[in-house]
Amino acid sequence: MSKEDDMKHISSLVENCRKCSLWKTRKKPVVGEGSIDTDILFVGEAPGYNEDLQGRPFVGKAGKILDELLESIGLKRNDVYVANLLKCRPSDNRNPLKTEIDVCTEYLEKQIEIIQPKIIVPLGNFASSYIFEKFGLKYDKISNIHGKIFQINTVFGRLKIIPLYHPAVATYNPETKNILLEDFKAIKNAIEEV
Ligand code: URA
Ligand code: SF4
Repeated sequence: MSKEDDMKHISSLVENCRKCSLWKTRKKPVVGEGSIDTDILFVGEAPGYNEDLQGRPFVGKAGKILDELLESIGLKRNDVYVANLLKCRPSDNRNPLKTEIDVCTEYLEKQIEIIQPKIIVPLGNFASSYIFEKFGLKYDKISNIHGKIFQINTVFGRLKIIPLYHPAVATYNPETKNILLEDFKAIKNAIEEV
């Protein structure tokens, strides 16, 4: 099967998924979007109100900031792939539950296997702690590790993990936006080394 077919297969699994209760309240699941041939995978937390309506990741206010941040280092959405930890929206935008993360990340894991990224950028605490644990790194709080590059070896080659603050925080905290702009330079440097 081609990478496209593999990704379509994941979409159909997610569309029919009832592994946790979030399927009951979702309007559309959000599988992910972007280039499957990219070196860079962004991992958000979960769909919000607008994402749930449209079935696409980061299309609301946080998405606007993500676009600005990408643009600041000369990238467009289609140069990267954007997925989330959870594929369905937790109603009222509450935090993901551990039980939901445990069952849903089977899909993200498959996406990582298909894309085999050289750089993974987890956004916010939940995505960062999941990615750290998955790749055997010791997690520290996001305020200590944001913008740092963690290099590891994986079965599909060398991988850089660059945890960042979640862009949603920057919608109400301008200081976080400046930190994100600064931290995005680490992504640019990492790309230049790939
Ligand atoms: N926040 C996320 O974590 N993911 C989205 O897709 C949108 C907002
Ligand atoms: Fe399935 Fe994930 Fe949606 Fe839960 S959040 S129903 S595990 S796709």
